[in-house]
Amino acid sequence: MAYSCRTYELKCNECGKRFGNRPISACDDCLAPLEVAFDLEAVRPQFTRETIQAGPANIWRYAALLPIPEGFTPDLPVGFTPLVKASRLGKRVGATNLYVKNDAVCFPTLSFKDRVVSVALANAQAFGFRTVGCSSTGNLANSVAAQAARLGLNATILVPADLEPAKILNTLVYGARLVRVEGNYDHVNRLCTMIADEYRWGLVNVNLRPYYAEGSKTVGYEIAEQLGWRLPDNIVCPMAGGSLIRKIRKAFRELIALGLVEDKPVRFFGAQATGCSPISHAVRERLDWIEPQRPNTIARSLAIGNPADGPAAAKMIRETGGWAEDVSDVEVVAGMQELAETEGIFTETAGGVTTAVTAKLYADGRISRDQVTVSCITGNGLKTTDALVGRYREQPAIRPRLADFAAHLETLEHASLGLELATAGGVYVD
Ligand SMILES: *Cc1c(COP(=O)(O)O)cnc(C)c1O
Ligand SMILES: [Zn+2]
Repeated sequence: MAYSCRTYELKCNECGKRFGNRPISACDDCLAPLEVAFDLEAVRPQFTRETIQAGPANIWRYAALLPIPEGFTPDLPVGFTPLVKASRLGKRVGATNLYVKNDAVCFPTLSFKDRVVSVALANAQAFGFRTVGCSSTGNLANSVAAQAARLGLNATILVPADLEPAKILNTLVYGARLVRVEGNYDHVNRLCTMIADEYRWGLVNVNLRPYYAEGSKTVGYEIAEQLGWRLPDNIVCPMAGGSLIRKIRKAFRELIALGLVEDKPVRFFGAQATGCSPISHAVRERLDWIEPQRPNTIARSLAIGNPADGPAAAKMIRETGGWAEDVSDVEVVAGMQELAETEGIFTETAGGVTTAVTAKLYADGRISRDQVTVSCITGNGLKTTDALVGRYREQPAIRPRLADFAAHLETLEHASLGLELATAGGVYVD
């Protein structure tokens, strides 16, 4: 139930106590979260632009700075998703240097969670777990189920009972055992903490959490490499537990420390839905703690009312000179549509949150138009189609005749003219 490693081990964030490599997530002295600490000097020779570029076109090109146990040969091509210049979205929001990091197409289950799960499961195997699992707001469930299937591990996955149907199906199809729990994510997570104490299971975001969280650093490495080994001026990132946004910063700092990019300040901007906004609330009110909320939003993948890394995320956002915003569910849907209509990227509700917050940050002058800004899109719209129900009328079918087509086109043009008039005043059309 432990292994030793030359380059990394668990360390307490608060008191600095070291733990080697074991399946635990909190310090037994001060209860603070544990984090994987790397010996950067030991890693330095294996983590250069040259060694990375000679590696595979996936997250394993950064393996030297991921907590991968010796003897594990990763072969699943996770990550290395596109970073695209978003000129048309930029025009809409008043930006000239906006990029989208598109994890809506992450392999294998279409969200950034594939990155964290692949690192966590490598450790689950090293610790000898035969059963793995998680508490999930949806995407994590999909990814654990898929990757456990491929590794031949048993999976038991706990989710809030009201999860979107697509995310439930996307878990069951891989043969995982799915347990729906009455209550919200925070109830599910508390139950999982008790399960981890009782059963010898590797729960990726509970007793394997420190290893899991490191996988998110690959978003940061990729952004820097894809910008030509440069850091952006700003990152806009959705927040649930508050882990991803922190790990992108950790990645940037490691790249600076090892001389792969020039040191420069990067401001971090957090995005949440107003119906579950404990971290953005803490940032705006300048609190050092998190006031837990009861989530009520369509952005279910971000609906964590008592985020584990919330206090650290809020502190870090302020340290970088960034900010956090939240948006209503109506704005979330508009954000999904706006990204699809301008860039051809169909994201889930979480991406609607990020897109709408990005627009707000430009509108409020918190980000200036010519700065290099990366908006992190983390999930795929096909998983949350229920958010768009009623947004598009069902089209009548026409007979396969040119005259019918011409007549139909005319009615469509009439209808869209009506739509433009209705939306011109800011009225939302159902
Ligand atoms: C889990 C998740 C996030 C947020 O991740 P944290 O690291 O918990 O803040 C963002 N977007 C999507 C789509 C997710 O599934
Ligand atoms: Zn401690």
